[in-house]
Amino acid sequence: MTAVSDVSLDPIVYLNGELVPLSEARVPVLDRGFIFGDGIYEVAPLYPHAGGRTAFRFRHHLARLARSLDKIGIVNPFDAAGWRELIDRVVAANEADAGLRADQDAIAYVQITRGVAKRGHAFPAGIQPTVFVMVTPLNLPGAAQRAQGVRCVTAEDRRWLNCDIKSVSLLGNVLMAQYAAENDAFEAIQFRDGMLTEGSSSNVWMVKDGVMYAPPRSHKILEGIRYGLIEELTGECAIRFEAREIAEAELRAADEIIVSSATKEVLPVTQLDDQPVGDGKPGAVFAALYAAYQRAKAKEAQEAHEAQQGVESESRERVIA
Ligand code: PMP
Repeated sequence: MTAVSDVSLDPIVYLNGELVPLSEARVPVLDRGFIFGDGIYEVAPLYPHAGGRTAFRFRHHLARLARSLDKIGIVNPFDAAGWRELIDRVVAANEADAGLRADQDAIAYVQITRGVAKRGHAFPAGIQPTVFVMVTPLNLPGAAQRAQGVRCVTAEDRRWLNCDIKSVSLLGNVLMAQYAAENDAFEAIQFRDGMLTEGSSSNVWMVKDGVMYAPPRSHKILEGIRYGLIEELTGECAIRFEAREIAEAELRAADEIIVSSATKEVLPVTQLDDQPVGDGKPGAVFAALYAAYQRAKAKEAQEAHEAQQGVESESRERVIA
């Protein structure tokens, strides 16, 4: 919402039951997250609204977290109410003591690793997961970037075949992001066997002749929380949507390409490997979806505000009675 200027570089984080400054948070080197990348993470945007903060599409983020934990056999340390309460606590601590302003967009980063044990590949018995939560300001892409669009490069997808798991083992994605950075690109768009998969940290959408396409949900991509949302928004905007395999040549002949993620929302790709996408300008489908995205945020904020007022007036009534 607003530019970051007065934000602490040392947010208050939650680690294994305690709130501590990030600079003081420590995990043992035998944590399996460090040794094996044996853990799961989640990233959810927190948008401010009158009298509070909404974790946008939080139910969906928590469901994906639960799915990922389940797929690697880590017991979810909290239920939905527990996660909500914990993130509220971290937000409150950062607003009170670490310079996070109540009107600032923020991001909740949650990580759970299998825990600490003597090094050995198979799951050790009887260990406690390591639980980490960090809330930091979120700087969404600005109007200039949306108006201009971003440049992406393409690459072969060489990651493992469990991309549906939101694992902290991100080396394949890290290498892709580095490849994009070295080529002055915003994102690397990947193909596996000649078919579109996704970006290094985003889902990718194609528009052709007014129809919106995305690769189907599968183990080859991470199902972004924006995947389901954008699917819904296409319905709201009367844009036809189809999930199907997209060949590399089709993507190169697209009218529009869009990338989506929690920290980027939706962004138009106007250049792919030095070729313009469509007419080289952000398209009408992007514009409609961006507007619908902002309406969805406003609607959730309004609902959260009303729910909060409901709770407050209920507790006032209880006090009066
Ligand atoms: N794919 C990958 C590989 C990602 O890292 C992300 C970002 N977490 C996404 C897709 C988009 O997911 P979301 O919309 O939940 O941010």
